[in-house]
Amino acid sequence: MSQPLVGMDLAELGEALGPDQPGYRARQLYDAIYRGEAPDLVQISTLPVRMREDLARRHALGLPEIERLYQSSDGTRRYLLRLEDGRTVETVLMPEGERDTICISSQVGCPVDCKFCMTALMGLERSLSAGEIVGQVLLVARDNRLRREGGRLNIVMMGQGEPLLNLENVVKATRILLDPAGFGLSPRRITVSTAGIIPKIEELGREPVRPKLAISLNASTEEMRQELMPITRKYHLKDLVEACKAYPLRSWEKLTFEYVLLRGVNDTDGDARRVVRRLANLNCKVNLIALNPGPGIPYATPEPDRVASFHEIVRRSLPCFVRKPRGLDIYAACGQLKRNAVEG
Ligand code: SAH
Repeated sequence: MSQPLVGMDLAELGEALGPDQPGYRARQLYDAIYRGEAPDLVQISTLPVRMREDLARRHALGLPEIERLYQSSDGTRRYLLRLEDGRTVETVLMPEGERDTICISSQVGCPVDCKFCMTALMGLERSLSAGEIVGQVLLVARDNRLRREGGRLNIVMMGQGEPLLNLENVVKATRILLDPAGFGLSPRRITVSTAGIIPKIEELGREPVRPKLAISLNASTEEMRQELMPITRKYHLKDLVEACKAYPLRSWEKLTFEYVLLRGVNDTDGDARRVVRRLANLNCKVNLIALNPGPGIPYATPEPDRVASFHEIVRRSLPCFVRKPRGLDIYAACGQLKRNAVEG
């Protein structure tokens, strides 16, 4: 079987339909795949039956399959999804009031060796295709009948993997998700997070269609950052801040910096003040995340009053929020995606 259809752009779908098809057929197929809810090819009712059957003989639709679904007491759902080659990857749905956030993966496992993150313990198995990135969104949106109008749906590329080490596929997936004729999300509703791959940040900035950018800061000094995130021995904090200064933000856009708080390691008032100094002059906000612990992670979560004190200091100078952990009881929270099994 040749390439799956999910992940193809309009021109590629036109080619998949074969020569001599009028252009509107490709648009109907594109619409059915990305806007519609067709669970399989033969149910795409806008196309003639023969055409659907023909297509289905040559191509799979290519949505992932649900291998396991874990349900948290806070409403979060963690999907273990099976890909075409049998590998599995995780996607998390976090409903909150009128808003839903889907956290998607960009790779199976991760090559970046952050010492506080469980996904790092998997190593990298492989990168996901654009179709596998979009497919997570289509599947979870359909499985939960999520509505996307009025800014209800948010996508964060903060699951397994380092998205900027799979930039081409991340950008292609983003184009489909943001295309008004495709999935139709607003560019304000999709964010990609990186450990700070500097040349790729510059490349992303040159893309006309791109998600918002979040950067995992996680330390206030070069030395501590290199200890916690070995990849930053190559991509220095100082250069990262310079790349952020040069990053072409859109008029409505701010950078987000994420900071994982580790008890007694990077959570002092002095760290908070250094974070403020580092980020001065950047149009940004800061999200603090108290460590989500897990087996194999040699750090502890700070006490709530330590988090509050850190927050208070940063907040005096920059917009700063404490990210509420979601799905901790099912290993669905930040840094916990490692295909962990859950009893019961
Ligand atoms: N590789 C990308 C995408 C992953 S996003 C990146 O590094 O940004 C995951 C976010 O969760 C990052 O900001 C990371 O710093 C944070 N994180 C990782 N492990 C964590 C843990 N154990 N507890 C809390 N946050 C964690």
